[in-house]
Amino acid sequence: MTSPKNTLVDKKPVKKLPEHAPMEQFPVRDNVLMIAGEPITDFLNKVGKTPFYVYDKAIITQQVEKLRTHLPERIHLHYAMKANPMPDVVNYLSTLTDGLDVASHFELGIALATGIAPKKISFAGPGKSDEDLEAAITAGVIINVESRGELERIAVIAKSHNARPPIAVRVNPDFELKSSGMKMAGGAKPFGIDAEVVPELLQALPNFPVDFQGFHIFCGSQNLKEEAIIDAQTKTFSLAAQLIKASPLPVRWINIGGGLGVPYFPGEQRLDLTPIGENLERLLLQHQAIISKDTEIVMELGRYLVAESGLYVSKVEDVKISRGETFVITNGGLHHHLAASGNFGQVIRKNYPTCVANRITSNDKEIVSIVGPLCTPLDILANKMLLPKVQRGDLIGLYQSGAYGLSASPTRFLGHPRIHEYLV
Ligand SMILES: *Cc1c(COP(=O)(O)O)cnc(C)c1O
Repeated sequence: MTSPKNTLVDKKPVKKLPEHAPMEQFPVRDNVLMIAGEPITDFLNKVGKTPFYVYDKAIITQQVEKLRTHLPERIHLHYAMKANPMPDVVNYLSTLTDGLDVASHFELGIALATGIAPKKISFAGPGKSDEDLEAAITAGVIINVESRGELERIAVIAKSHNARPPIAVRVNPDFELKSSGMKMAGGAKPFGIDAEVVPELLQALPNFPVDFQGFHIFCGSQNLKEEAIIDAQTKTFSLAAQLIKASPLPVRWINIGGGLGVPYFPGEQRLDLTPIGENLERLLLQHQAIISKDTEIVMELGRYLVAESGLYVSKVEDVKISRGETFVITNGGLHHHLAASGNFGQVIRKNYPTCVANRITSNDKEIVSIVGPLCTPLDILANKMLLPKVQRGDLIGLYQSGAYGLSASPTRFLGHPRIHEYLV
């Protein structure tokens, strides 16, 4: 016998206790998280059931205001709906922003139902079907064309409707958004038309029955480095200027993408919008001879507008100890919140900022793993976090859950009941 110890019950030492990015957007009163001015426990009594998502209008408004304060007035803000397509959220943002970006026929329906002008809606996405294109053309929204083949199909459908649909050319740039959570440009990509072949397409464009608006240049997502965003925006303006020179038709619209991130994980900080705004101001000045004052410049943002406003709340069903480790089992899990489980594009799983919403602080803390009710080891909401000691019935809150939450989750997996979302 080399080891007299029973290694099975040995608890592995936890070296560094994970902490999360500071979350102060939801106030705390009497040690309880407040939702729209009332304790979360009262809110739960009103809505009756966990789990749920709640999105706070005041926080959404605050995010829009931050952008309006720091970015040049000329920059139009669009909401990229795929971050959170809940109709109430889309409705609300349609009143605060200058337009909506949709990525499917279904999202288009929600966008149109807000009543905003079709010209303020743009439709991007590789692989649009003839039905998608027909819906977009009938509605009169701007179609971001992703390939030559798609342009040819648009022409056929436009002719059959006697229409001249507004289109923009989505460009796959020859650069990328560095240190981005999700790269969506540069190199070989399914999105957009490679920048180097766009001039040739532009020459052919006057022969198509379309109303050319301009360009859509989107580089990537979830970026928290100001320098990387500044670098990408600088290159985006240069590319746009180059393409304008190559275009036989006037350019009235440029969508410069977005990519602004929000902090989720230990060590991450909120973006400083000041240098980004200053750089945009500089770029507008530098390119004013080519990008005229009448050209509408759009920035499209999803996550930045909604992520911070959202809280995912579940209830503790059971607390159990397995070989020295404590597992808190909740009635919520990856079927509602795939991203928090670390399975939505993350390379290394990290914990979303998490709280015990009905007992924010306590002297009695312990290290626990919070898991969902699904029969899969992937169903983890928080791995080995130091939290106030938890009992059955407590409420677990996951911050930063307003984007890529419910709609990006496999809700039918294991057949648990559908849950509610509230905009408050
Ligand atoms: C996903 C997507 C967005 C939104 O990205 P966020 O990181 O949520 O801001 C914007 N534009 C396009 C084309 C997208 O595909």
